[in-house]
Amino acid sequence: MAIMKAENLSVDFYEKSVLKNLTIAVEKGQIVSILGPNGSGKSTLLKTLSRNLKPNKGSVYLDDNNLAELSAKFIARKMAVLPQSPEAPKDLTVRDLVEYGRYPHQSWWQGKSQEDDQCVDWALVQTELLDMSSRIVSTLSGGERQRVWIAMALAQKPEILLLDEPTTYLDICHQLEIMELLADFNRNHDITVAMVLHDINHAARYSDCVAVVHQGKIFAMGKPEDVITVHTLRVVFGVESEIQIDHVGKLVVMITGLTKKRG
Ligand code: ADP
Ligand code: MG
Repeated sequence: MAIMKAENLSVDFYEKSVLKNLTIAVEKGQIVSILGPNGSGKSTLLKTLSRNLKPNKGSVYLDDNNLAELSAKFIARKMAVLPQSPEAPKDLTVRDLVEYGRYPHQSWWQGKSQEDDQCVDWALVQTELLDMSSRIVSTLSGGERQRVWIAMALAQKPEILLLDEPTTYLDICHQLEIMELLADFNRNHDITVAMVLHDINHAARYSDCVAVVHQGKIFAMGKPEDVITVHTLRVVFGVESEIQIDHVGKLVVMITGLTKKRG
């Protein structure tokens, strides 16, 4: 069953058409990665899926409800979003920021509940931030800060988590740490994950489904081994590659050079 789908999305910025009649579905329980070159419309797609951007045409559905007709609170109880380069308000502690994730569950007459505290603690434990909970977010390392944003999203107790390049700017070890964290939430806490990824090998290793965005459309979507091919990499990214299968049966992509332009 699709927890989220978008049908015939078109997004134009001024004269420029960025998404062109794009259709995509995210199956419940899966990890779906969105790949594509710079400027292909990935962030635009994620913003449209999370209602941070209104499409010129087409609709987004969350559990078969039209996103345009839902309340912000209802959406935030089901969906958490981590944008491409989030910025924390100054002087907030880790715990303060993670507590923001509970806002959709609070009512103005009640304020914070015991359940809110429990969810914040749970999110801090999951992301191994409990010891750092009184640190100021801006003093943390890149990897730690990214974990705080993920903790905030988790405290929201979402059914689906959308992330835009959650590992960019992190070193290899911290990239894997984030990928493992997301895989764990997906496996053990039943959270559907849809994310824009830069690293094709991460997408191949961790995703149930890969969607490749090219010129504002879905070029291909499906299992990593069906979608991440020499042909896709050549046509969409303009690179030549060799693809192998490793000892656990996952694809490993080696980029061997730029595709020579004809003519
Ligand atoms: P990606 O995330 O795949 O790198 P984006 O979705 O950020 O790509 O951008 C796709 C295209 O849309 C780019 O050409 C970008 O310049 C353009 N674009 C994105 N946001 C805006 C905006 N707010 N106004 C004008 N153009 C935009
Ligand atoms: Mg982007």
